[in-house]
Amino acid sequence: MFKYHMPTKIYFGENSLVDNCKELANYGSKALIVTGKNSSKKNGSLDDLKSSLDNLEIESIIFDDVEENPSLETILKGSDLGKQSQCDFIIGLGGGSPMDAAKAIGIYIKNPLLKNDDIFNVPNLKSLPMFAIPTTSGTGSEVTQYSVITLHGEKTKKNFNQIVFPIIAFIDPKYTYNIPANVTINTAVDAFSHLLESYLNANATRLSDDLCENGFKLFSEVLVDLLDNNITHKTRSSAMLMSTIGGMAIAQTGTSIPHGMGYAVTYNKGLAHGQTNGMLIADYLLSFKDQSKILDMFKLINVRDAHTLKKFISKLMPQKITLTDEEITKYTTEFLSNKAKLKNHTEEIDYDGVYKIYKCSFN
Ligand code: NAP
Ligand code: ZN
Repeated sequence: MFKYHMPTKIYFGENSLVDNCKELANYGSKALIVTGKNSSKKNGSLDDLKSSLDNLEIESIIFDDVEENPSLETILKGSDLGKQSQCDFIIGLGGGSPMDAAKAIGIYIKNPLLKNDDIFNVPNLKSLPMFAIPTTSGTGSEVTQYSVITLHGEKTKKNFNQIVFPIIAFIDPKYTYNIPANVTINTAVDAFSHLLESYLNANATRLSDDLCENGFKLFSEVLVDLLDNNITHKTRSSAMLMSTIGGMAIAQTGTSIPHGMGYAVTYNKGLAHGQTNGMLIADYLLSFKDQSKILDMFKLINVRDAHTLKKFISKLMPQKITLTDEEITKYTTEFLSNKAKLKNHTEEIDYDGVYKIYKCSFN
């Protein structure tokens, strides 16, 4: 027996937003657009969305203050704007940061009595109707129920522990055509790590495995183009589909230890989310006693083994980060209290095992 639940309707391909945006008219007459500071103004997505909403006579309010790895403070600020303007629904436009922020903002608007970090503590909260338009090919947040929020007080990031699937994801790879090389690499590696962590997951099912195997084939194409520095529109389209498939897979299984181990590093070292995952995955793979599924994965991505993968990743991500023994001790202890991520791992892993993954990845 297995369950598959991913209720988001997907429109994927050229002009998928402009051609299908009319469905938003069913959800009200005022939209809050949650986006980042700059990129959606430059890649054409904000213009497309604004003019489509204008044509539908839907008023739009823009909150364009979402930073990378969005903080609770930003989410509360966006919620205040949404409450004042009495919007009917919410659209996350951008990378994972604005999409995740939109999910959480939708909850604070729908539940105006919530304060501060209540979102982490009150179960089963509903959101305003939420829609997603990704402009990076990494997180798959357009098809997941998750929202990862930075908590400065705790010096880390946490999933909000609610379930908010976007109602519709409008996915058009053209918004990603001009993403700078470093963001392209970080986000592609993030999508790959979703596929990996879903495939090697205690919650994996036949269906999530099939999704991952399809995603791995797409990653093999994307990886060759990234290594050759030959990023074409076809690469962008494959990367976008890989990212969405990765999202559909983690919506079923959750992520596993690289994501859990990475949050503190991302926070404390100011690394991009995908870069941290990239630095951890080879040693995570090497830590498995049972390598059988990992061998299947390497065949699908057309890479010989974890050592070769590590070489490729360090070519793509040449920035080196080292952690002191004191930092590794602290992060290892903190991570071992993250029972949710640990239970998704298929093998027993203890303090020494986690310590070793950090040590080999960051030295
Ligand atoms: P991001 O933090 O949303 O954006 C990274 C950078 O890329 C920003 O500077 C952004 O600029 C820029 N950018 C976005 N789209 C662009 C485009 N089309 N062209 C040029 N630049 C563009 O990056 P992300 O990797 O997509 O998202 C990472 C976040 O998602 C993390 O907080 C992570 O924890 C979370 N996450 C969520 C899930 C989930 O299932 N919900 C899964 C994995 C990760 P602007 O700021 O100007 O837009
Ligand atoms: Zn991720």
